[in-house]
Amino acid sequence: MTDLARSFAAHFAGTAIVPDDDRYDTVRAVWNATVEARPVLIAQCRTVEDIVEAVNLTRDAGVPFAVRGGGHSVAGLSTCDGGVVIDLSPMRAVSVDRERRVATAEPGATWGDYDAATGQHGLASTGGLISTTGVAGLTLGGGIGWLQRKHGLACDNLIAAELITADGATIRASQNERPGLLWGLRGGGGNFGIVSRFEFSLHPVTTVLGGLMLFPIDQGADVLRTFRDWAADLPDEGSMLAAVLTAPPEPFVPSHLVGQKSVAILGCWCGDLEDGTNALEPLRRLEPAADVFGPMPYPELQRMLDAGAPAGLRNYFRGGYLAELTDDVIDVVLEQGAAMPSPMSAVHLHQMGGAVGRVGVDATAFPGRASSFTYNLVSTWSDPAEDSIHIAANRRMAAGLAPLSMPGTYVNFLADAPDDTDLAVRAAYGDDVYDRLARQKRELDPTNLFRANHNVRPAR
Ligand SMILES: Cc1cc2nc3c(=O)[nH]c(=O)nc-3n(C[C@H](O)[C@H](O)[C@H](O)COP(=O)(O)OP(=O)(O)OC[C@H]3O[C@@H](n4cnc5c(N)ncnc54)[C@H](O)[C@@H]3O)c2cc1C
Repeated sequence: MTDLARSFAAHFAGTAIVPDDDRYDTVRAVWNATVEARPVLIAQCRTVEDIVEAVNLTRDAGVPFAVRGGGHSVAGLSTCDGGVVIDLSPMRAVSVDRERRVATAEPGATWGDYDAATGQHGLASTGGLISTTGVAGLTLGGGIGWLQRKHGLACDNLIAAELITADGATIRASQNERPGLLWGLRGGGGNFGIVSRFEFSLHPVTTVLGGLMLFPIDQGADVLRTFRDWAADLPDEGSMLAAVLTAPPEPFVPSHLVGQKSVAILGCWCGDLEDGTNALEPLRRLEPAADVFGPMPYPELQRMLDAGAPAGLRNYFRGGYLAELTDDVIDVVLEQGAAMPSPMSAVHLHQMGGAVGRVGVDATAFPGRASSFTYNLVSTWSDPAEDSIHIAANRRMAAGLAPLSMPGTYVNFLADAPDDTDLAVRAAYGDDVYDRLARQKRELDPTNLFRANHNVRPAR
């Protein structure tokens, strides 16, 4: 037994798992299979006290560590080689104060846990599009989701948080207590400490109009141009996503389209259902090959895409912000999207605007407020021998889109783990946001203890 394992055995009330434990390979696995780190110890926390103890023991031992919420960081930031993983995944409780319309989530909760708890009360706030993703990492990076144009990003609904700091203290951030820290937690990632409790404002959301339409790729240019013009005037109730993908072998997909590159329009309308149906009419006039938009409970929409994003495959993401979906962008997306060398890969164009765009650029640390679309180039494959093929194809498309994009990128869609410079992270946030985050970091984590993240260096 190592000294570290001995001190955890003596002081840590959670479960400490070391490499010779039978559970080790299962618990060390993260969503993205290209990330194969071997931590020296995984500290599974069940209580806030466990988190505090894990921070203190690890810091005092001088061992690097990573913090794990839902484990979906594509860059592999929630695990580390040779260090400790502070694993919050056993802490998944979500409670709802129906009167105040506030949800409180433990830091290991997934969006599935969250939507199940809030959905029972006919309430919701914006969460990610895949129910297995963690509330923690998604919110701390920003949080794009189906309700965003009506109710803002996930981080815009974060009204308070409890944080374990580098010295093991527990502090609170809200509009009244440390508003500067709340600003930083809304987009600045896990740079300031471990969030042990999230509080979100909730909104009435029950049945929504959700689903997708599918078009053959040779209609792609027409569809995406019509979609762009239509989306520009869409009321806030609608949040849409256009995608280039391979049509899946689902019963609703005509057999001639299965396995073919296609354009999909996916979305959610969280207002009056008849208004939503009318709003979709211009897209329906394009005569989609498949159309499964219909009324459904919001938590069901939140699980609709889960089967397409299983854990254990190999993944690489690159993202960016678009001021407009110009013809040039559409050409790159269609040409390179169709050339992606895996049927599991896709290009996602998330519609921004609405409530997201009405939050001031300096009101949170999420830098993409002025964009009309955020793209995510999602490469997914299974054979490790093909890593370089898929990563190169993704980077080619990213290079094609870069000159057409706005400055900055969404850190949660950044698969490259930070190198030993802070240039990529600075570029992602932009100088103003980065410098403000760096000042906040100097105050709370001057030695940069929390650095397994898209790391902001403490200001000097
Ligand atoms: C399948 C899939 C679907 C996705 N869909 C969306 C989407 O719809 N919208 C969107 O915006 N993004 C989406 N993303 C990106 C997603 O936001 C990020 O991958 C996010 O980091 C996932 O959070 P997590 O808690 O699961 O990750 P983790 O890997 O556990 O953590 C990610 C980062 O957050 C830090 N962290 C985790 N918990 C805490 C905590 N309690 N306190 C402080 N730091 C913490 C970690 O240290 C790490 O740096 C998706 C990703 C995947 C893989």
